[in-house]
Amino acid sequence: FFITFEGLDGSGKTTQLRRLATSLAAEGHHVVTLRQPGGTALGDRIRGVLLDSRSEASLGPIDPIAELTLMFADRAQAIAEVIQPALAAGSIVLCDRFTDSSEAYQGGGRQLGSDRVLALHTAVCGTLQPDLTLLLLPPLEASLARARRRNHRNTQTHGTDENRFERESDEFYGRIHNAYRRIAEREPTRVITIAENHTIEEIEKIIHQIVAQQLP
Ligand code: C5P
Ligand code: MG
Repeated sequence: FFITFEGLDGSGKTTQLRRLATSLAAEGHHVVTLRQPGGTALGDRIRGVLLDSRSEASLGPIDPIAELTLMFADRAQAIAEVIQPALAAGSIVLCDRFTDSSEAYQGGGRQLGSDRVLALHTAVCGTLQPDLTLLLLPPLEASLARARRRNHRNTQTHGTDENRFERESDEFYGRIHNAYRRIAEREPTRVITIAENHTIEEIEKIIHQIVAQQLP
């Protein structure tokens, strides 16, 4: 069973993924977790290239289509090395971001359009789709505030922002937010949106209930 977590930076998906992994494992499930970009040795290198704001100094600006295809190179490796073998072994796979992130960030945020992203998805991932996608989409303002606080913290502790996406404009994040909403409208069976600004514990409970209902 393949579950993905989606949402804007600062939406809390990483926290929720960890909590779900812990509770599923405690119930005796075999759980495999990974994040995108990342999750393999190659993916971690790609993550460094794409996210580290210092790579801009050495590489120059990254072309949006180069960014998009690197995301899919990362995904191809993750599918071959981690996701497909784990699903074949009957594990529950929890993935922090998947193709919906590419559609939201590169398709929406970078304005490359959904069609191009979905065509790449078919070329790279074939028919592989998450069985369930948990989309954490609190009001845009709340997400922005959290991402900015975290970015400020990173800047103070590391002297640099770890993540070049966290210095994008509010308009960029607005386009991502809208793209996520359109994905959820288009695929209401797969994508469950948690839109309210609940507490971490409340969201954890909601997610656990949804997953318990859907697990085979
Ligand atoms: O929060 P997380 O660790 O998922 O951060 C990954 C970063 O990569 C995010 O800042 C997100 O903006 C960016 N990203 C992206 N396009 C993707 C996946 C991630 O821009 N397809
Ligand atoms: Mg995160």
